[in-house]
Amino acid sequence: MSRARLVLGVFVAFMLAAPLLLPEFHVTLLNYIGLYSIVALGLVLLTGVGGLTSFGQAAFVGMGAYTTAYLSTAFGVSPWLTLIAGLALTFAVSVFLGFITLRLSGHYLPLGTIAWGISLFYLFSNIEFLGGYTGISSLPEINLFGLALDTGRKFDYLIWALALLALLSVDNLLDSRSGRAIRALKGGGLMAESFGVDTARMKIVIFVHAALLASLSGWLYAHLLRFVNPTPFSINAGIEYLFMAVVGGAASVWGAVVGAGILTVLKQWLQDLLPRLLGQSGNFEMIVFGVLLVLLLQRAREGIMPLVLRFFPAPKKQLQAAAPELPRRTQPAAGETLLELTRVRKAFGGLVAVNDLSFSLSSGEILGLIGPNGAGKSTVFNLVTGVLPLTGGEVRFRGERIDILSARAIVPHGLARTFQHVHLLPTMSVLENVAIGAHLRGSKGVISAALRLERAEEAMLLAEAARQLERVGLGDSMHEQAGSLALGQQRILEIARALCADPVLLLLDEPAAGLRYQEKRALAELLRKLRSEGMSVLLVEHDMDFVMKLVDRLVVMDFGEKLAEGLPQEIQANAVVLEAYLGGVK
Ligand code: ADP
Ligand code: MG
Repeated sequence: MSRARLVLGVFVAFMLAAPLLLPEFHVTLLNYIGLYSIVALGLVLLTGVGGLTSFGQAAFVGMGAYTTAYLSTAFGVSPWLTLIAGLALTFAVSVFLGFITLRLSGHYLPLGTIAWGISLFYLFSNIEFLGGYTGISSLPEINLFGLALDTGRKFDYLIWALALLALLSVDNLLDSRSGRAIRALKGGGLMAESFGVDTARMKIVIFVHAALLASLSGWLYAHLLRFVNPTPFSINAGIEYLFMAVVGGAASVWGAVVGAGILTVLKQWLQDLLPRLLGQSGNFEMIVFGVLLVLLLQRAREGIMPLVLRFFPAPKKQLQAAAPELPRRTQPAAGETLLELTRVRKAFGGLVAVNDLSFSLSSGEILGLIGPNGAGKSTVFNLVTGVLPLTGGEVRFRGERIDILSARAIVPHGLARTFQHVHLLPTMSVLENVAIGAHLRGSKGVISAALRLERAEEAMLLAEAARQLERVGLGDSMHEQAGSLALGQQRILEIARALCADPVLLLLDEPAAGLRYQEKRALAELLRKLRSEGMSVLLVEHDMDFVMKLVDRLVVMDFGEKLAEGLPQEIQANAVVLEAYLGGVK
């Protein structure tokens, strides 16, 4: 049994025994920790993992609480039905709010969540049938299989059973194809989009997921207290929830419990201690919290969980040797025209970065695109991969126009890229980083992941990632953290990730930049091997020496225009090229 399993077992045993053994006061604390954990869990997913900050989570708690309070008191609806009603309402509202706020970027997103967090709070406070600031009282108790949960001790089991289910399902979710896509959202999502992840949809998914967890917590809260008023759903509470998620940290879903536990206990303790210490009453604990948060952000940005996890080394991913291979696309015949640029043009305002450039690339060749700094190479790359829209001209891939498609829609045609500045998830294993490349070769979504119904597909995706790592010679490092690799290996990792997409054409943007001599040789070796296996490559590169020994053909650019095109030895002897590239040195 792994250490983590053992701790989980001890945790469950404690939770089973606690309500029977602990004094009332501690059971109450435990109840609150459970309620807060469920909300903080949503924030670990949304903010910690997905990088989307929300201060408005308390409003969704209120939505769950008020829905059940109103329906169960005014109409006598069973709490189990009002739970469904509350979740349905929260679903609809969060999809709507998600669509309008998640488009916001940077600090506008948190500001947006504050805005609707405050609006919803005032809505609860001012709607007459919700009881205004007084709220709604005399909620019915919840009945579970004929057993009335009429005491905090009995209620504790329901809270923690649901909290545990929520924790396990989010944990499952993060350990899956969708989970990798969610984790790839942080840092802008360009990389995720480049492998076919619908990042806008993924953001909505985690936003709605977090809102539903908050709403569930609100339903529990309302029936635990059997009374609701607007105060606990204010923006202050929203800040505290966020605080819990930050304190726990996103390294593991258990950060939600750790954060909720620490803050709840600490708050209780400070509320008792500080007024006595200072000789006057007041919410001094909030000041201490503020100071603690600043300290934490300076000293332990990742929260407390990484410190805890040091004692629980992550188990190596078990690879199933017998996992069947993913289906592969039929590769084009050698010599078929793959990529065709016709009078491609890109203007940035008055600057024409790419000026009516035409060239083509055939199957099985390595085509080098070279030129001095600022010549327009990276821009060409971004036009072909759909990152930038064209100003004029067209790009065809295997005869089909791709310049009208988004980056995400181009991927399925068989183009896969690496980045000039590596884009990987440093704390995730090499294997899982590479598996992101195979995103479009799987299809199972969030719900099957949460319920662990996609294990067969997941095994195939991981096996494919392992196979590509072996192919590029990184097989021995697959269980290491990607961030611990040397730069040269990280670039190779990116090639393995691109290969995972089962591409027809690899697009490499300056893969040799920053590599040492030996690493460059290893990279050239790898690219030659891939070519011998039928892979086609478009190579944007600065290093002339590296390129000349490797490529079949070259296109030379200068000031956005094609200066020359031909075999390496032709280019090396071309006077115009030498003039432009070597600054007149002959
Ligand atoms: P290379 O990769 O060959 O060094 P780039 O394609 O990056 O060159 O740049 C070509 C020209 O286009 C440069 O003058 C650069 O400043 C300009 N440029 C590139 N991207 C942008 C952009 N997003 N906005 C404005 N100008 C740009
Ligand atoms: Mg460049």
